[in-house]
Amino acid sequence: MYSTLLADARFHELLLAFDRDLADTVRRTGCIWCGGAVHSSPYQRKPGGRSSRLGLRLGPEHDQRFSFCCAIDGCRKRKMPPSLRFLGRKVYLAAVVVVISTMQHGISERRMRRLIEAIGVDRRTVARWRVWWREVFTATPFWQIARAAFMPPVDDNRLPVALIERFAGGAAERLIALLRFLSPISGGQVQAR
Ligand SMILES: [Zn+2]
Repeated sequence: MYSTLLADARFHELLLAFDRDLADTVRRTGCIWCGGAVHSSPYQRKPGGRSSRLGLRLGPEHDQRFSFCCAIDGCRKRKMPPSLRFLGRKVYLAAVVVVISTMQHGISERRMRRLIEAIGVDRRTVARWRVWWREVFTATPFWQIARAAFMPPVDDNRLPVALIERFAGGAAERLIALLRFLSPISGGQVQAR
């Protein structure tokens, strides 16, 4: 069950560890515009969806969005590493957006209501996510290129469930594989709203 992962602290620690690795790669690469060194310049950002009703206890390091700033005067460009925790500029955790959007099909109305109440997200937000997958995500340059890797093609009308089905393993492996696949959306200059 994907939804039980949202309340699993080990799962969130794993996502943070992946994000640290991705951030280290960006730090080592340096500024892609001028080649200068980059300094860590994280954002304090508490992602939505880690409701206390889930019983989660996570440290303050989970409320940081890794980010780097070029150290060279006259450049100073900012670079966001890809992320498995944040999805573009969405305020909710990427895992929450994916899990709720995935479960919209094939889950009873009552269970869905309990889930979104526990997570602390309102129905209008969930409805917006549905539109986001169908209209915004499918129009991103990322998906326009990445979709070619899937054969048979992924049905855009069934996103993201049509994507998560393409990854192997149990619920955690599939969810992580999908978050990793989506991570470039949150990195660099590509910022899908
Ligand atoms: Zn630079």
